[in-house]
Amino acid sequence: MRRVRLLRFLSLCLLASATASCDGAPETRPAKVLFIGVDGATWDIAGPLMASGEMPNLKALVDRGFASNLATFQPSLSPVIWTTIATGKPKEVHGITDFVNATEHGPEPVLSNDRKVRAIWDLLGERDVRVGIVGWWLTWPAEIVNGFMVSSLSVLEAGLWKGSAYVGMPKQTHPPGWSKDLDLLVQAEQARAAETGKALFGALPDDYGTPMQKRVILDTRAALLSDQIFFESAKAFWKRDRVPFLAVYSGIVDVSSHRMWKYYRPKDKPQWRVPLEDVDALGEVIPNAYRWVDRKIGEIVAEADPDTLILVAADHGFHAEMRPGMSEDERSGGHEFALLPGLFVAAGPGVRHVDLRGDENAEIPSVFDLTPTLLHVFGLPRAADMQGRVYTGLFTPEHLAANPLVAEIPTYETSPRPTVAISAEDRAAVSGAKDNVVERLRSLGYLQGK
Ligand SMILES: [Zn+2]
Repeated sequence: MRRVRLLRFLSLCLLASATASCDGAPETRPAKVLFIGVDGATWDIAGPLMASGEMPNLKALVDRGFASNLATFQPSLSPVIWTTIATGKPKEVHGITDFVNATEHGPEPVLSNDRKVRAIWDLLGERDVRVGIVGWWLTWPAEIVNGFMVSSLSVLEAGLWKGSAYVGMPKQTHPPGWSKDLDLLVQAEQARAAETGKALFGALPDDYGTPMQKRVILDTRAALLSDQIFFESAKAFWKRDRVPFLAVYSGIVDVSSHRMWKYYRPKDKPQWRVPLEDVDALGEVIPNAYRWVDRKIGEIVAEADPDTLILVAADHGFHAEMRPGMSEDERSGGHEFALLPGLFVAAGPGVRHVDLRGDENAEIPSVFDLTPTLLHVFGLPRAADMQGRVYTGLFTPEHLAANPLVAEIPTYETSPRPTVAISAEDRAAVSGAKDNVVERLRSLGYLQGK
């Protein structure tokens, strides 16, 4: 065991000579972090739900910690921003600019190998801080992390924007040997998907709505199933491997907000004429998505040690917004054409107890700051080639006095980032994923008559 550790230490020195432990500079600080990403969550909706006691778990974090907006950028494409959150770098540097890669064979999924720079899980893992990453955007094939990863594969050809995990799809987990366990978990969640869906749709009849409404209900159910798989696999795998850094991504708030806004706030656009029947049937889907995510936050926070730093972050906010070329039945909520901040909450050791939500002059964190700030939490330096800074406003003066910022380094990118080899069979499996997905949804009763 000693020998393994020594070898690892030496290889880290070679890999990461810019940092710390090999040349006498500071070593990593023991810390525990649980980072929950909630795509598209805004205080406009979470705030009133929290105030009325319907998001008790988020409220408990705000009551003992830090709350603010999270500044973001445009265009607010989820894969781009979530990669910025995980790297501290703009899209021109991290290389993820869209949902798909345009190729001569047509659009193809963006792969984890396409990211040009290290993510927070690489930076921590290479310095012996073990990580667990679940459901993060563009992480297929699963990366070779120091810990575990459940990848997220987007199958846009099936009309599903958010990634998921699929039974039998290769390279969805690291360690690779955990794929069987993931398959079992996905199967179990598929089997109870109808029950899970009640959290958003109540007793909505299966045949409700026009063909377009059926389609957006299907999209929303599929996103909920993906989230459920990710939260359940995060909990199960974290029990197995108590990594000090766990990150989980949730997409259901974003998906439901794009598709259900007009039923939730039918008066937001004067041209909308929303039948009362639709408001009754679908008007609670968005707040239900927030309530559901809050329950999941509660469940996973309950698994964390009490001295864990908990972060909840959204990449952007939401409002009523039409998308050119799409009907209001297809998209009535959006974030693409306005700069809407996401929400940000933190609680735990060293975190300042302050609520900056109503303070327009407050200096707030941005999506660029999360990776440098997380590095600080683990005692590691920000690199000069990161756009973000350490957001010191998150911490108490006492914490900063005891844990001063480590001197900056030029870069962490001193060697090529390891990538994962993809075989012809892997590519075929991804190409076949559309059929796999459509068949799966049909078998779940989500695709009536299609
Ligand atoms: Zn979105």
